[in-house]
Amino acid sequence: MHRVGVLLPLPLAGAYDYRMAQAARRGLLVTAPLGPRETLGVVWGDGEGRLDEAKLKQAVPLPGEPALPPSLCDFIDWVADYTLSPPGMVLAMALRSRQAFEPETMRTAYIRGDTAPKRMTPARQRVLEIASDGLARSCPDLAEEANVTPAVVRGLIDCGALSQTELPEFKPFAAPDPGFAPPALNTEQGLAAHVLRGNVAGRRFCVSLLDGVTGSGKTETYFEAVAEALRQGRQTLILLPEIALTVQFLDRFAARFGVRPAEWHSDLSQRERRHVFRAALSGEARVVVGARSALYLPFNELGLVIVDEEHEQAYKQEDGAIYHARDMAVVRARIAQCPAVLASATPSLESYVNATSGRYAHLKLSHRHGEAVLPQVRLVDMRQNRGEPGSFLSPALREALAVSLGAGEQAMLFLNRRGYAPLTLCEACGHKMICRNCSAWLVEHRYRKRLVCHHCGFETVLPAACPQCGGVATFAACGPGVERVAEEFRAVFPEARTAIASSDTLRGPAETQSAIRAMAKREIDVLIGTQIVAKGHHFPQLTLVGVVDADLGGSDGDLRARERTFQLLHQVAGRAGRAEKPGLVLIQTRNPEDAVMKALAGADRDAFYEQERKYREAAHAPPFGRLAAIILSGHDGDAVRGAGRVVAKAAPAARGVKVWGPTPAFYAVLRGQTRERLLLQAEKSVDVQAYLRSWLAAATVPKSVRVTVDVDPVSFF
Ligand code: ADP
Ligand code: ZN
Repeated sequence: MHRVGVLLPLPLAGAYDYRMAQAARRGLLVTAPLGPRETLGVVWGDGEGRLDEAKLKQAVPLPGEPALPPSLCDFIDWVADYTLSPPGMVLAMALRSRQAFEPETMRTAYIRGDTAPKRMTPARQRVLEIASDGLARSCPDLAEEANVTPAVVRGLIDCGALSQTELPEFKPFAAPDPGFAPPALNTEQGLAAHVLRGNVAGRRFCVSLLDGVTGSGKTETYFEAVAEALRQGRQTLILLPEIALTVQFLDRFAARFGVRPAEWHSDLSQRERRHVFRAALSGEARVVVGARSALYLPFNELGLVIVDEEHEQAYKQEDGAIYHARDMAVVRARIAQCPAVLASATPSLESYVNATSGRYAHLKLSHRHGEAVLPQVRLVDMRQNRGEPGSFLSPALREALAVSLGAGEQAMLFLNRRGYAPLTLCEACGHKMICRNCSAWLVEHRYRKRLVCHHCGFETVLPAACPQCGGVATFAACGPGVERVAEEFRAVFPEARTAIASSDTLRGPAETQSAIRAMAKREIDVLIGTQIVAKGHHFPQLTLVGVVDADLGGSDGDLRARERTFQLLHQVAGRAGRAEKPGLVLIQTRNPEDAVMKALAGADRDAFYEQERKYREAAHAPPFGRLAAIILSGHDGDAVRGAGRVVAKAAPAARGVKVWGPTPAFYAVLRGQTRERLLLQAEKSVDVQAYLRSWLAAATVPKSVRVTVDVDPVSFF
């Protein structure tokens, strides 16, 4: 009998002891009884030995004895420890279903049989000719290729001219070819690629910041590292911040390597996920491109991890186990002993500091590839250039739009706000339409004739009369959203073809994708969108970008608000003039003197970073100090506030640690839950996890109050 610790993919405190008939290595998949049912589990180590041997239940390996790679097990432990999450909860992100370890389901397919049909027709002839290459095909595929009806194929099956066989449900992933279409790199790209290739070949952990202006060819450059990993027989993981970016990316990858990589994101079906999971484990998938959860795929031969647009906030997972995928990608690479590459035109301040201090290699691409030059950026002072009342497009911007459209070029209008108007107000009594579940304004979506809460999804129609004063037709839309900007634009330029692309999950990613595709194919002239249009896209004919309101988001009041505004607007500006024709960016602002605006206009990016670095250093803010948030939430507001006071009192005194709060969160009520926050600020030398553990152990909170720990928070709402 062997006693082992088995970790179950459940939010339990740790591994449980089981007995096994054989010695088992860490990572081995087992089924283990838990109460009345059987669950999937993973051998995590030796048992603790506290439970009597006779009482141990038996765990049994899965058929074929599949196992998770040891480096993945170590990574799961690391994430759990760092984020203060139960390890089983982190394991659950890696282990989605037992079926992933069973043989893939097969589908019926047909090959040429031994019997010749009694009656031959031209249609039958065509089918048999196609089938004679020996490849197995499904009935619909055969019919389509031969351009006959499925009935013709079935007739051939019935008479034995085609015989049945089985094919895996999915086509296996073909190996990308590193030599398929390598580009001729320019000097800077070549130098950076040389370093990256050397790192991959060296098979050691190191981190490089690929810091290149928009359009400088960062992707082409890190593709050379991917090519090297392929040559070395190693797997590559490429993380992208948004699913919306993957489509263009897959095609680009295929243009370079001959085939598409495996993709991993939340839009895949369960079966597709299992397919990718198996392929990562078996090594069939050499390159996986995915969202943050791809970090938990079972790579056995990981040789390179790339995080594109590393500064993106979307890398922060905000529920369940709260983690930052960029930081965890670096950890994943360290545990797998392979290089990590972080790519961005506007790195996070953390990565910038790591690169300039020499902890990360700093690889710079300072100019755009080929003929393209960086766009000219101009600030439009909205205090002086306002135009008619109720208008959001200044005369300067309208004029520039007219010029671009007149020249047959494309333009983009950017406003980081979904819907028609962010606030609906009764002009008679001042009543604001707010969500019934959240302390947030309802956003008008005029196109769908709805008021929508962007936090909980609550929807309603605009009431006929004001619920407070009973006034009729007294509601006014305040402020612009993308729909309203589109309305104004269409009134001024009725001939232009437009589309709205917004990250609005309510309208679905498919619509956004189609707007982006239409823009790329020149089927529209002007794309009007939220931050979804800012990222990564390459529209060669786009020469004008108008930022409708650059001051949005500057008032968030958190330590990264300025950095984020800069990153976002810089990315947006970077969409202009990416091919031969030069680009122009107009930024509408009421604060043209602000350092962020000056950095955008003057293009002296590093001066802005240095200033931010000084602010953060003076404030002991990350990366010069450490932060962690404790969020208390629950339906009973009094209980939550009471718990906040209890937790605050329980904070142990320690050197280099300050505790702020409790204070109501920015959205004090979300989805009906009252939320209170505490913030821990610590010197860099403090073991934040140890401090948090002893703190939480000392505070007793009622069951009705949920306690969430957010280490290295990026959102302070
Ligand atoms: P970034 O990721 O830095 O914004 P991209 O990698 O998207 O830049 O490159 C911008 C454009 O320039 C793309 O269309 C890309 O194919 C092209 N490009 C970059 N480097 C090269 C090269 N060495 N040879 C050919 N085309 C290149
Ligand atoms: Zn709401």
